Amino acid sequence: MILDGKCPSGPLAEKWDRHRQDLKLVNPANKRKFKIIVVGTGLAGASAAASLGELGYKVEAFCCQDSPRRGHSIAAQGGINAAKNYPNDGDSIFRLFYDTIKGGDFRSREANVYRLATLSNNIIDQAVAQGVPFARDYAGYLENRSFGGAQVSRTFFARGQTGQQLLLGAYSALSRQIGAGTVQIHPRTEMLDLVVIDGAARGIIVRDLVTGKIFSSAADAVCLCTGGYANVFYLSTNAMGSNVTAAYRAYKKGAFFANPCYTQIHPTCIPVSGEHQSKLTLMSESLRNDGRVWVPAQKGDKRPPHDIPENERDYFLERKYPSFGNLAP
Ligand SMILES: Cc1cc2nc3c(=O)[nH]c(=O)nc-3n(C[C@H](O)[C@H](O)[C@H](O)COP(=O)(O)OP(=O)(O)OC[C@H]3O[C@@H](n4cnc5c(N)ncnc54)[C@H](O)[C@@H]3O)c2cc1C
Repeated sequence: MILDGKCPSGPLAEKWDRHRQDLKLVNPANKRKFKIIVVGTGLAGASAAASLGELGYKVEAFCCQDSPRRGHSIAAQGGINAAKNYPNDGDSIFRLFYDTIKGGDFRSREANVYRLATLSNNIIDQAVAQGVPFARDYAGYLENRSFGGAQVSRTFFARGQTGQQLLLGAYSALSRQIGAGTVQIHPRTEMLDLVVIDGAARGIIVRDLVTGKIFSSAADAVCLCTGGYANVFYLSTNAMGSNVTAAYRAYKKGAFFANPCYTQIHPTCIPVSGEHQSKLTLMSESLRNDGRVWVPAQKGDKRPPHDIPENERDYFLERKYPSFGNLAP
């Protein structure tokens, strides 16, 4: 087994730009001769399908919900990071890169994270152009909050519904391509298997979730945008439909499966209410970093919190981690 991430060569900040420069372009007139299958219509799938359609490729998009608007990204609440440095608090592309590498326990591929940090600014511009109603300050400028343990405020948000609002933006771009005829959408369909020819993914086997009919679709390339692996923990903030079956099929057909440990933990969920429950509901990521955490300074203090005066509270995170305070993980 050869593990080769096919990381572009060159200095970190230039790797992807160089790679893009080295790639062969496809003649615009030839693009419509290529068909691409996109499975899943969360933020990854909806935007990939819309972008590929806009570029002129023939796209078939498969979505197990009744509409791409219900792709699971709808659940994301807190916000999306970008290194715009609007608050002038010392942010930069390198600092976003560094924080993301650190947040991933130094196990992410550096070239890809650098590209994510570089593109983060374009993504905000694109989402704003699509009409995503990000929060704004009193003067009308885009608002930022501190989020996810960072010392700078770089998170763009739309109340507690950022994922839903971003998905509506991606969905409108996708709908435009569906209307233009470049993307054919198959709602309420589930990918059952991957078709591999000579080592390349060339199609999928699909079930129509309404009629039960099983059919196949062939293409020049297949993008699996089918989301995360969280359901391995049984109850998680992902719905049961986010069940990694598509990635597992690719694995069974020879693809490498890496880093299942890359699962974000949401510690603040509404408590489990009974056995009927299939998922957890996040309370609100919007509250993170806005409050202060404390315990009674006196051990065994039984008084209700509001009866404990300020000078008898121990803000232990601020005491133990003076520079990160309540942002400490
Ligand atoms: C509660 C919650 C809060 C979050 N908050 C934030 C946040 O504040 N900021 C942030 O940056 N990130 C946040 N995230 C993470 C972020 O939402 C996800 O990483 C991101 O939306 C994933 O997008 P995706 O398109 O890769 O996958 P998804 O949005 O999961 O889309 C994949 C889609 O594929 C479908 N699918 C799966 N298998 C198949 C199959 N076999 N056939 C057909 N379709 C299939 C799924 O139903 C799903 O709709 C949050 C996540 C959750 C769950």
